[in-house]
Amino acid sequence: MEEYSMRLKISFIVSFIALPIVFMVTLMYQNSSFGLFEGFSKGMAIGGMNQKNFTIGVPNVTANNEFGLRSDVTLDNFEGRNKNDVKIKSSKSIPLTNSTSTPSKEINDNEKDKLLDGLLVSGFDEASCISRSQSHFYHKPSPHKPSPYLISKLRKYEELHRKCGPNTRAYNKDMKIIANSKNNSKKSAATTCKYIIWLPANGLGNQIISMASSFLYALLTDRVLVVQFGKDKEGLFCEPFLNSTWLLPENSSFWDAQNVVTYQSIIEMEMTNTSNEYLPSAMYVDLKYSPTNDERFFHCDHNQFLLIKIPLLFLEAGQYFVPSFFMTPIFKDELNKMFPEITSIFHHLGRYLFHPANEAWELITSFYQQHLAKANERVGLQIRVVNPYSTPHQVVMNQILNCALENKLLPKVRGTKNMSVSSSDKNKTIKKFVLVTSLFQQYGKNLTNMYQNKSTVTGEVIEVYQPSSEKEQKFGDNKHNLKAWVEMYLLSLSDVLVTTYQSTFGYVAKALGNSIPWILYNPVHNTNKEICEREFTLEPCYHYPPLHYCDDGKVIQDVASSFHNIRHCKDFPFGLKLVNTSV
Ligand code: GDP
Repeated sequence: MEEYSMRLKISFIVSFIALPIVFMVTLMYQNSSFGLFEGFSKGMAIGGMNQKNFTIGVPNVTANNEFGLRSDVTLDNFEGRNKNDVKIKSSKSIPLTNSTSTPSKEINDNEKDKLLDGLLVSGFDEASCISRSQSHFYHKPSPHKPSPYLISKLRKYEELHRKCGPNTRAYNKDMKIIANSKNNSKKSAATTCKYIIWLPANGLGNQIISMASSFLYALLTDRVLVVQFGKDKEGLFCEPFLNSTWLLPENSSFWDAQNVVTYQSIIEMEMTNTSNEYLPSAMYVDLKYSPTNDERFFHCDHNQFLLIKIPLLFLEAGQYFVPSFFMTPIFKDELNKMFPEITSIFHHLGRYLFHPANEAWELITSFYQQHLAKANERVGLQIRVVNPYSTPHQVVMNQILNCALENKLLPKVRGTKNMSVSSSDKNKTIKKFVLVTSLFQQYGKNLTNMYQNKSTVTGEVIEVYQPSSEKEQKFGDNKHNLKAWVEMYLLSLSDVLVTTYQSTFGYVAKALGNSIPWILYNPVHNTNKEICEREFTLEPCYHYPPLHYCDDGKVIQDVASSFHNIRHCKDFPFGLKLVNTSV
């Protein structure tokens, strides 16, 4: 009887103490699998087959976001409340750049690092764009310094933008003048400032490189850059210019560029020697993928002299058209002063313009903390398969493995892992974490299967994380774009980067991260013998560059002898890119 009552007591105590513990542990385990998606397992994570749930986690922030989930991811050094109100407590212990948990920064050199060697200006409200003050903890310091001349151009531009950016008095007045004169004037209207309205084309990577190009065009021509962002870009980027906005106001009559005179029509008039007296106040310039159209002569001085007179240009592009400015004699001096180092232009412009907005930053930092921070080395694999029918997944997978193993980016597998490794050995083990980004889940899955529970010839431990697998490219979709931006940025935090030929998604990642990648060539129609090769510059390729000389209109034959510092791209031989020919 006594024994029975003793047993009863014990089982009561056990259930009183143990059950809540079991319950707590279960809850913690469920919450710990932060991911952009469900489906992460401990250690090896493949995100996302079902991507409705997009958890966010900001340091010490408990957030209920629009995706309907919450996550409690903490960082020692931050104290946040919600996504709009996150406070920095201390930056001492952010264990981010380089590897493992060694703090790479001290507070004292924060200010210089935070402003990226003068590229950025101080005075922003930090809570409204946390990434601007924190990104330097995540990216390694850049060896590419912005020139003093570029810095002074940026500061002057910011002033101009404050004077004439959207919603200012000058802007409102100018837009009225342009709107009233656009259909009937023989002479373009006189406005206080001149403007570019950037229109989006293609995927997000294309849009980012074309915004950067348009901004440089604005710097070169003293124009104000205004961007037409739809709902699909909400929560992606911070405002880049201090105390002003670059967003085309929602109520602007310039959302529609349908009836605007095209640059093409003006060029045609000129080519047929028709009188060119008509100078509109607004003009539409098409710099999209059309090697036969407008951009043929956009790089010519005489056309730039014409465009200078037009107050408002609508610029639609999906291209990195910066190399064409180096073909335009009137821009050359200014460019050389701004960019004495020709191969880091997009690196500077990208880090100046594109700061993840708080929502995106929460996703980036949470994912990083949860999955990547503890690695000794982070390997980013960007696998862009546009058409899986013409480029089968198995062929791509073999190519990736060959590239990664041959170049020792990843180790070969030896056999089943010895599970009884001592804890001191465990501490010595090198951890390589692989971030896979792709529209297709099989890449992350295959790599996971390859390394899971296996030992490697180098003794390194490999963990694989793929944040999403969207299956297909979507247009005008905010969540889809957010994932794409988060992943481009996460890739930019890699120590070793592999990107896919011709992909602007990869161009953005390499330039933001200052990481010269290995390029995977087209495994099916590859004119190079290599399956992958080390890239040699951070600059993107201009896929559809000008084809004709300005003076005689003949086809450009030999780029290298005609244009200093411009060469054909390795990953897309039709395209052109800026290279340093003096080394
Ligand atoms: P590009 O077509 O490779 O030059 O890159 P873009 O970014 O211009 O267009 C591809 C678009 O497809 C992206 O912006 C995304 O919307 C989507 N996409 C392609 N690859 C990925 C990927 O790895 N992850 C995510 N989340 N989206 C991708």
